[in-house]
Amino acid sequence: MIDLHAHTTCSDGTETPRQLVNNAIIHGLSVLAITDHDSIAGWQEASSAVRGNLSLVPGAEISCLTLDGISVHMLGLLFDASNAQMLRMLDETRDSRIPRMVKMVELLNAGGYDITMEDIESVMPTGATLGRPHLADALVAKKFISSRDEAFKGLLNNDSEYYVSHMAPTPEVAIAQIRSAGGVAVIAHPFASHRGETLDTSNFDSLVAAGLNGIEVDHRDHSTSERAALRAIAKDLDLVITGSSDYHGTGKLNLLGENSTDPGEWTRLESLANARRVVKL
Ligand code: AMP
Ligand code: ZN
Ligand code: FE
Ligand code: FE
Repeated sequence: MIDLHAHTTCSDGTETPRQLVNNAIIHGLSVLAITDHDSIAGWQEASSAVRGNLSLVPGAEISCLTLDGISVHMLGLLFDASNAQMLRMLDETRDSRIPRMVKMVELLNAGGYDITMEDIESVMPTGATLGRPHLADALVAKKFISSRDEAFKGLLNNDSEYYVSHMAPTPEVAIAQIRSAGGVAVIAHPFASHRGETLDTSNFDSLVAAGLNGIEVDHRDHSTSERAALRAIAKDLDLVITGSSDYHGTGKLNLLGENSTDPGEWTRLESLANARRVVKL
């Protein structure tokens, strides 16, 4: 089984990179991608835990914003970790998540929620990419809400009065950067509409022009009809089709391997990177 999208304590997952790899081995996965938000901090630890039949795909899920303000997540897989421009792009996004969180805390304070940046830091793993799930955890610790899920259904939703976006590259810039670092770009859950406004079919042409390689079709947040529509787009534009769990440990309901990628699609995707960067014992 091939699962090309999973998070760790280096962003908003709840398992360390080592625990994630161990879990993948226990589940009998053949290929696992580590894709923390805007970070490659977990690559080394995850790589050192690889054994048995597991192949580890180094990756990251890059937060993007279109010029119209639509939030898009781009999976960058198999890129060169020493590419300075790539690292700078990830750094800039991570940095901008701090003032963004300060603003969200200010809005929540004005709305009567007594929460501080220190509260968030105290529930967050060291070195993690700061995100709304950590804010949700702090709100849970202070008993304002009962779960991350509840937070994302209301208070911290993209449409909420407390939501603030952070600086992020456009999807086209992110794709071009991933490709110039030798990796492959797969757009994550493009039609997951409950997160807010999404791209539509006509937007895919410019992504392909920028170098997009694949579409994450099989994902928990896509309905049967959304999957069918995306499959048709992928066929039409000759893009690789992937499926993945978007596993976050106990931070989300998603189970490791609950959606997976066809081996033929994975072989094709891997061949589009400029070097073999899969980690295998
Ligand atoms: P941010 O990157 O700070 O804007 O936060 C978005 C992150 O929150 C995404 O990566 C999602 O994985 C996570 N997220 C979205 N919805 C939920 C949910 N219902 N429960 C837990 N985490 C969620
Ligand atoms: Zn996440
Ligand atoms: Fe995502
Ligand atoms: Fe994700």
